[in-house]
Amino acid sequence: MVISVHQWFKTMPTLAEKKTARPAPRTAARPRPELIFGDFWEFDPAPETADPKIKPRYDLFIGGRMVAPTSGRYFDSINPANEQKLTELALGNATDVDLACQAASRAFEKWGKLPGKERGKYIYRIARLLQDRAREFAVAETRDNGKPIRETRDFDVPMAAAHFFYHAGWADKLDYVAPGRRLAPLGVVGQVIPWNFPLLMLSWKIAPALAAGNCVVIKPATNTPLTAVKLAEIFQDADLPPGVVNIVTGSGSTGGALMAHPATVKIAFTGSTEVGKVIMRSVADTDKKMTMELGGKAANIVFDDAPIDQAVEGIVNGIFFNQGQVCCAGSRLLVHEPVAEKVVSKLKNRLRVLRVGDPLDKNTDVGAIVSRDQLDTVKGYLDSGVQEGAEMWQPSCRLPAKGFYLPPTIFTGVTQSHRIAREEIFGPVLSIITFRTVDEAIEKANNTAYGLSAGVWTDKGSRILKMSTELKAGVVWANTFNKFDPTSPFGGYKESGFGREGGRQGLLDYAKLV
Ligand code: NAP
Ligand code: MG
Repeated sequence: MVISVHQWFKTMPTLAEKKTARPAPRTAARPRPELIFGDFWEFDPAPETADPKIKPRYDLFIGGRMVAPTSGRYFDSINPANEQKLTELALGNATDVDLACQAASRAFEKWGKLPGKERGKYIYRIARLLQDRAREFAVAETRDNGKPIRETRDFDVPMAAAHFFYHAGWADKLDYVAPGRRLAPLGVVGQVIPWNFPLLMLSWKIAPALAAGNCVVIKPATNTPLTAVKLAEIFQDADLPPGVVNIVTGSGSTGGALMAHPATVKIAFTGSTEVGKVIMRSVADTDKKMTMELGGKAANIVFDDAPIDQAVEGIVNGIFFNQGQVCCAGSRLLVHEPVAEKVVSKLKNRLRVLRVGDPLDKNTDVGAIVSRDQLDTVKGYLDSGVQEGAEMWQPSCRLPAKGFYLPPTIFTGVTQSHRIAREEIFGPVLSIITFRTVDEAIEKANNTAYGLSAGVWTDKGSRILKMSTELKAGVVWANTFNKFDPTSPFGGYKESGFGREGGRQGLLDYAKLV
């Protein structure tokens, strides 16, 4: 039977119908926190005992259903905090990617023509359902990734919901993205994401793609696929039409097959610069639209007139948030010589009281590194720093016997030629370099192949303006660090990639102007 787009949408239950069909999610004794967009920092925090409802095995999400991988093979996801197996996930291959792309292409015929207002309703539903299950997702993410529950509870999950809310709002306002022009969807979008913010990166990728009218095939990272397949449950609950989002778990080669698949007219990659280059080479002779969100080596610059105590908090947040596994981490501290000694001394005192350990403990500041491989890589950088002549310092702290932990680490006496000053370590390691003049700070900050972010700490507005003009970085934070908002475009210069995610600019990367 052939039905029109309009009829097809009418067959979907309305949100009100869905709500009456579902049991009430919360009791009167524990009312549902009303999360209105903009209020996401204030929502009711989750108790850490919330059951993450992890199934023993997860299949691929293709065409709206969970389907077994054609190879019949699965891989384990482990909890880096205790090295125990959490669950197993389907190892998708090129055939599965092809099936997912076919499902997305079929879905696009209708989804791409739906009025934006109707698309927006689905995206709002996803946002609300994620908010309803925020506690469960926060615990699941912490167990799969090792990041502190305080972060997943207060940052990752509410920010992910905020991205869906924000983009739901855009769906019927695309005419205002580029005044005078109309935005048309591209088609099937292939997306590959890393392990450092698994759910948040999913939402950064999926929400704008859907708002602009595209259909999605996405490949999560091998280390952290759990919240992606759990999000599939939410897509089903939201009655998202089959095939609009498809999730293919697997390995790097699964991602390679997705990026190169002829159906993906746009590819969006977040990950290392190294893999980004491999992907760009593999699609060089196609006309796929691309966005690349790659690595970083940000300078966090502290001047002598800065509010030192706040700056020290900003330095700690800049490099030890998410164990330093952050693309825009302030991994190079550039500190003005007159205050260098004072800043380093206060920093050491602060690090002495950071709690390293069980990520499910709400008092934990620094959780587990995502995998043994990543821990070994970071330790390799510690060796290289020492061998090249920098001085390493760590607070004394007792680490759990099992799991992948590293104390927060700082290096002083670092020169620009040291590997720890040039390469992205992606761990809780800070390289400290001093400077004497504003020009020297700018020169040193820009002396990197990357250009994702930077931080400036100073009392002078004029200096902030000068620095933000001259620093080659996609985002420059002033007297703060690691602040994010869905309305604000995020992306890099130089080897940190191209294209923007978030804000009006992010939508332009998921559409064509007609
Ligand atoms: P990665 O090794 O580059 O992997 C990223 C993703 O690419 C994973 O899903 C990975 O799959 C997949 N992949 C690996 N080889 C591939 C290939 N040949 N073709 C297609 N996909 C492939 O990066 P990561 O170690 O997961 O994440 C850390 C990096 O991400 C850092 O460099 C960080 O700076 C960057 N990052 C950037 C941003 C940003 O917005 N700029 C945000 C977050 C992270 P497997 O997991 O299965 O190997
Ligand atoms: Mg894991």
